Amino acid sequence: MKNSRLLISVLFLFASALLPTPGSAHTQWLGHDRNRPLPPVVDPGVSSTPEKPGKAPSDAVVLFDGSNLSAWAAMDGQATKWVNHDGALECVPGSGYVRTLRSFGECQLHIEFATPSPAHGQSQGRGNSGVFFGLGRYEIQVLDSYDNKTYADGSCGSVYNQFPPLVNASRKPGEWQTYDILWTPPRFASDGALKSAPRVTVLHNGVVIQNNVELIGETGWLERAPFKAHAEKLPLALQDHGNPVRYRNIWVRELGAPSKPEFYLADAVLDSYVGTYDRWEVTRRGGSLILNTGGVVVELFAESPTHFFSKVVDIQAEFDPSDRSIRVSVGEDSGEKKQKK
Ligand code: MG
Repeated sequence: MKNSRLLISVLFLFASALLPTPGSAHTQWLGHDRNRPLPPVVDPGVSSTPEKPGKAPSDAVVLFDGSNLSAWAAMDGQATKWVNHDGALECVPGSGYVRTLRSFGECQLHIEFATPSPAHGQSQGRGNSGVFFGLGRYEIQVLDSYDNKTYADGSCGSVYNQFPPLVNASRKPGEWQTYDILWTPPRFASDGALKSAPRVTVLHNGVVIQNNVELIGETGWLERAPFKAHAEKLPLALQDHGNPVRYRNIWVRELGAPSKPEFYLADAVLDSYVGTYDRWEVTRRGGSLILNTGGVVVELFAESPTHFFSKVVDIQAEFDPSDRSIRVSVGEDSGEKKQKK
């Protein structure tokens, strides 16, 4: 009897080990399943050296390779005053933050920076800039932290005002340094409540300095700022803190479920689409448009300066600025062109 109970227990444990774990992400696949899709092949590119910027992996979105600033704008979407100086994206003090035109959610970001040499100023006034996620909401500090004392949670590589870097892996002023950052954006419920906080891992010059930390709010100065609901995908931004910090070899790889490219257009462009088109009403909410037709409200995201899509239903909207019209398609049905009143 004892033996049979033992046998049943062993069989149960054996069967449990073979069964998929409840809630695991890939339960539809057998172990070693021959039908399981293979990972896409990616050319990993070339790593940078101090003398020469490297090359992005083949599936990356290149944001700056030294040739032009076409992926960047000022925060309001107008042309940035930052300059391309000898193949580096350089902050012009007093010109404001620069942001990407494209929005990103969960991603891997590679970015290289050099603080001014010779060094000027001290503490937070020396080589200060920052890499921001969420359209200026969450800062990974960029600072000349080489032989420059400041408060711990404002050091280079800190999640500013929240988490100091694990170590100070800074190079000298003027030397090129790298950040490799894994970013998971926060998620919010439809009522604006926080579902999950953002998480970040940062390697500074190849050294782990933030290990999957969970942010406690937005970046604040002299305050602990709370989270405020926002879109999952938003532009990346670089801070103008009054120092001519330079950047090069900037690329990002989108992680998570495949999705359409999404752009954060200039407020002025979005506002030009706001209005009444026959029975349809278009309004703006931040970087997206709201289409209201007969009480049905759909949020639209920009795929290009004129083409918008919904993430919930198969609705597409094409604006034609030349005659101030909109054409909305639902599924395969393309609707009539409606003029703006
Ligand atoms: Mg900063």
